[in-house]
Amino acid sequence: MQLAQIGAIGETGNCRLALSDEDTQARNLFAGWCRDAGLVLHSDRAGNMFAVRRGREPDRAIVAAGSHLDTQPHGGRFDGISGVLAALEVVEALNDAGVETDAPLAVINWTNEEGVRFAPGLLGSNWYAGAIDDVTLDGIRAADGVGFADEAARSGWLGVMRPADLPMDSFFELHIEQGPVLENAGVQVGVVTAVQGLQWLDVAVTGMDGHAGTTPLDGRRDALLAAAAMLVAINDAGRSEGSEARVSVGRLVPATDGPSTIVGAVEFVIDIRHPDIEVLERLQAACTDQCQRKAAQYGCTAVVSRRLSVPPREFDADCIAAVQNAADELGFTNRKIASGALHDASNIAAMVPTTMIFVPCRDGISHNIDEYASPEDLAAGCEVLLHAMLSRAGLS
Ligand SMILES: [Zn+2]
Repeated sequence: MQLAQIGAIGETGNCRLALSDEDTQARNLFAGWCRDAGLVLHSDRAGNMFAVRRGREPDRAIVAAGSHLDTQPHGGRFDGISGVLAALEVVEALNDAGVETDAPLAVINWTNEEGVRFAPGLLGSNWYAGAIDDVTLDGIRAADGVGFADEAARSGWLGVMRPADLPMDSFFELHIEQGPVLENAGVQVGVVTAVQGLQWLDVAVTGMDGHAGTTPLDGRRDALLAAAAMLVAINDAGRSEGSEARVSVGRLVPATDGPSTIVGAVEFVIDIRHPDIEVLERLQAACTDQCQRKAAQYGCTAVVSRRLSVPPREFDADCIAAVQNAADELGFTNRKIASGALHDASNIAAMVPTTMIFVPCRDGISHNIDEYASPEDLAAGCEVLLHAMLSRAGLS
C-alpha cells in the first residue's frame, strides 16, 4: 500500500510507467526495503534489479523470484507488485526465522513488463533471455522520443551486469490471476502449468460496394454481412474446443462507413489462444475454413494469413511439483491452471526451470483501478512461494 501511493490514481489506482519518475521512486523505495533486509543489490543494462540474499554455499546459482513494479497507465496495486513483494516477504520471513538456505536467493524486479512507455512489453526479461540484443535494447525509444538507455541511466538503475554474472538455478513468479477461474472455483492457489500460446490471423474480406436502396438482398456481395457470419462461426469453433479456448475479434474495419452503403471490403484480426499447440493449430485451421465458407456463402472472397504466432510455454515439471507440494502440504485449496496472459516468467522459462503461482483477484478484474486481491489469498500464495523456493534452494 506504501508503493501504491507512488503514482496513485484515486483511492485504488496506479500509474507508474517504466522508468518514469514514479517508477524510479518505487524502485528506490523497494531498494531501501531490500537493503534493510540485508540484501545486496545489482542491476543489469536493462535496468532489471536483483536483490541477493547470501546462501551457505555462495557460489551456487540463485533461486530467484519476482515480477514487475511498473503498471498500466490506469492500472491497479497488485499486477506485478504482489510478485515482487511476495519474494521480498520470503527473504524477510527467513531473516525473522534465522534460516539460512544452501543456495543464494534473489528478489527480482523486471523492467518494463507492461510495454506502455517502451515497446515491446516484457522488455527486461526479453533482453535477459537473449530475445533482444544490446544494440536493439539501446535503440528503443518512447513515443515522446526519449531513449530507453537514457531513461534507465537517469533512474540510477542502469547497470553493467550480464545474466552469466549471476547464474540462476530457477525462477518463480507469483502473480494475480487476472481472470475469474480461481475465484469461481473457490480455490486460493493456482498451480500454473503453462502460458497459453497465441496466434493472430489477418482476414481480408472482399465483396462489392452497393446501394442500400437499389440492390436486392439476394444480389449483394456484402462483405460486412459475411464478416458478421464469420464472427459467429469462429466463436462456435472456439466453443467446440472447450473452456480453455479463446477466439476473439476486437476490431472490425469496413472500407466504407455510411448507413446506406453496402460494404465492399472488411478487414479484421482473429486473436486465438490455447495452452495446447495442437488445439491452437486446429483452431487456426477451423477459423480459416469458416472464413472461406462464409465468404463463399455471401458471394465474397476471404484472404486469411497468419501475422503472429507465439507458441505455448510449458513450465518446468519439477518447479510445478514444488508449488503443488507446497500448496498441498500447507493445506491451501488449489488447482492447476494455464496463464491467459504473457508474463516475464514465459521468457525466463526458456533459460532455467521456471513456474508461476496464481492468486485469485476479485471478479477477475485487472489492468483496472478496481483490481483487488485479499491479504489472506496473497499470504497463502506467498507461503507457497516460500516453500517452493526452499525446496529448490535446500536447507542442509
Ligand atoms: Zn503483470
